[in-house]
This record gives sequence, C-alpha cells and structure tokens, in this order.
Amino acid sequence: MTDYITFGSKRIDFELTFATRKSLGITVTPDLDVLVKAPDGTAITDIKERLRKRAPWIIRQQSFFLSFQPKTLPRKFVGGETHLFLGRPYRLQIIDAKNEEVKINGKFIEVFTPDKARTETLVSEWYLQNAKKKFHAIAAPLIKRFKKYDVEPSSIILRNMPTRWGSCTPRGKIILNPELIKAPKGCIEYVIVHELCHLVHHNHTQKFIDLQTREFRDWEKWKGRLERLLA
Ligand SMILES: [Zn+2]
Repeated sequence: MTDYITFGSKRIDFELTFATRKSLGITVTPDLDVLVKAPDGTAITDIKERLRKRAPWIIRQQSFFLSFQPKTLPRKFVGGETHLFLGRPYRLQIIDAKNEEVKINGKFIEVFTPDKARTETLVSEWYLQNAKKKFHAIAAPLIKRFKKYDVEPSSIILRNMPTRWGSCTPRGKIILNPELIKAPKGCIEYVIVHELCHLVHHNHTQKFIDLQTREFRDWEKWKGRLERLLA
C-alpha cells in the first residue's frame, strides 16, 4: 500500500509492505521511491511516527538524487545565439542551403537549411545523435573498469527527464538525459560512474560514496559543475 507523511513543508510518499521481521526497514531507491518494510501487525500511526523521525535522513537521500536538476535557458534558435556542446559555447549560424545539415565549424554550430523555421528541430536532432555517439564512447572504458565488481549495465538508453541527469533501473539499465551532451566530458563521466556505482550499491550509503570516490576521485568537482550548468 502507499501512504505519506508530511515533514515541515515536504510530503514524503512511501510504499509500505509488511513482513515477518523485527524492525522497520527504510530504503530510498535511485528513483526516489521510499520503500518501507514493517514487522507484521505494526500500527500505521507507529510507522508514520518512526518515518517522521527518519525524515531528515530520507530527504537527504532524495536530495542527493534530485541534485541532478538540469537548468535550461529558454532558446529562440536564431542566429548568434549561444548553445553549449560538451561544455563549450558555440554560436548558432543559420545558412540558407538546399540540403539540411548541422555541423560544428570553429566556434560555430552551422545549420544549413532552406527553411529557418526548421532550425530548432535540426539542432535538437543533431544534439541527440551526438549524445548517443558520445555517451557510448565515454561509457565504454568506464563499463570495462566496473567489470571487476561483476557488474555491467544491460543497456544505456537516452531519455528526456525533467529533473534527472541519469538514473538506473533495478535490472541494470542506465538511463541518461540527452541534455548531458551540453555538459563537459567530466560531468558526463561523473553521471555514468554514479549510475555504475548503483549497480554495485543501490542506495547512497557511505559504501556507495566510498566506491564512487575510489572510481572517480574528482566527482565532487564535476557534480558542482553540473549543478551550475546552464544548458
Ligand atoms: Zn544516485
């Protein structure tokens, strides 16, 4: 069953199951779900009381995930506008041409099109294609490195997520936000390593953080860069 508690201005939803066990177990999944396992017969008021006491910890766990909050500036897709690619700014240059094409040339993203109104579509497609290519290339050596822990993602897919840079499913599928292609390579590596660490530890326990630090010493620096990124 699902229920919720309130803590200050926050509402914490949770999924409750009962089991033959002695104590209350609380887990925050990478998808921000709060799973509560209670001993058979525990009163719901007692469970909520215990949850309220653990609320600061739950919120801390959730905020760790939620800190992947893409901040996107409104764009008009007109000539001269600045767009990021792998952390570097490029100016849009729209060029009248018969055949459609998008490419980087020096400090410019050149958009060739017979119809200016197509710029946004063309640039978005170009970002997505590059995201697919680059994410897989960046992930390959990292995946190799994690084989020593006997884990390997079942697949890496791209999906637009309003509040997340990355996530992973219990079955080991890593999901990356295509907007990440606007961030520096280090940020992309950080998100991938973070999700790979979740294949070993499913929560943000100290063990998880220790593993992340062992595999990516500079993670705090790149996490900060990502949080400040205005894509
Ligand atoms: Zn995480």
